[in-house]
Amino acid sequence: MKAKANTRRRSVAVKRGSKAASAAGKYGAIRRELQKQRQAILDEAGEGLTKREGPEAFPDVSDQASAEVDQNFSMRIKEREQKLLKKIDEALDRLSKNIYGICERCEEEIPYQRLKARPVTTLCIGCKTLQEQEEKIRR
Ligand SMILES: [Zn+2]
Repeated sequence: MKAKANTRRRSVAVKRGSKAASAAGKYGAIRRELQKQRQAILDEAGEGLTKREGPEAFPDVSDQASAEVDQNFSMRIKEREQKLLKKIDEALDRLSKNIYGICERCEEEIPYQRLKARPVTTLCIGCKTLQEQEEKIRR
């Protein structure tokens, strides 16, 4: 009765698998990735602040000028990072409310592959394409 034993073992495995897939488990990898990205942005922002500390770090005038250019540059990056950070926070918020992975436009589930590639997305491919077409018309 080998076949019967195999079937039973498989059903146990399925049960365990579905338990892991529920709630946080389903998007566990994505949640970790979002938290990693969030930490990376925060770490970089912190580094930028310590680098700018005190004029003695730039004894030379030309160094100081280039430091200002760097500052402008890092501020521009920061703006982009702020936006991403906000998106990451919103995605984590949706994860904690168990509404993550639902397209905000058609309310269909967004395919896991798309979420994995772009974890902060709030739209499925179809709606994203529509939105882009609308933006083109508006411009
Ligand atoms: Zn959609």
